[in-house]
Amino acid sequence: MANIYCIGRNYVNHAKELGNEVPKQPLLFSKPTHALARADGSTYTYDYNKEDIHYELEIVLHIGKAVRPGDKVDDVVDKIGLGVDLTLRNLQSKLKEKGHPWLRAKGFPNSAILTNLWEFKGVEDCRNRLFSLYQNGNQVQCGSIRDMLFDFQAIIDECSTCFGLGKGDLIYTGTPEGVGSVEHGDHFVLKWDEEVVGSFQTQRSQSYQ
Ligand code: ZN
Repeated sequence: MANIYCIGRNYVNHAKELGNEVPKQPLLFSKPTHALARADGSTYTYDYNKEDIHYELEIVLHIGKAVRPGDKVDDVVDKIGLGVDLTLRNLQSKLKEKGHPWLRAKGFPNSAILTNLWEFKGVEDCRNRLFSLYQNGNQVQCGSIRDMLFDFQAIIDECSTCFGLGKGDLIYTGTPEGVGSVEHGDHFVLKWDEEVVGSFQTQRSQSYQ
């Protein structure tokens, strides 16, 4: 595993639900590799007192080779999966106000949930799929890449130009609307169309409950 890049506000309705402006160029940030956590049925405990932790369901691209200018998505992405970008939302708001980096709100351990990856069948195939997140049996998010502001190609072009993109890098491509709070004892299920591709449980610290 090399780098974990993430795109913020890549779906108009999500930007609006948080009262954010729609960006004119991809809004990029990254997470430490220590943030990675498998959606393999594991339970993760988060000790952030009363901090509000939000889930953000996202499609995750896995880069299969060194990306050069002009490379097409279908030639450089070899695998795809779903992920949840967990965010300390209150803290993120405070950091934004101060103009500080988001790292403390986005980069904590087990904040980058990731399903098993499967073979990428191309952008066209993805356009015909829905991805969704269930919290305790209720669907809370459902998205389509048709609603993205910046498509996979634009994201890959931007990441490779600005930072470099190579084999093993992951890109969290942004969340559709419906983000919400992670509570003690929650059970999350991630679906690609109707197929369950991952799940995890969350626990909060005693002081939060
Ligand atoms: Zn996100």
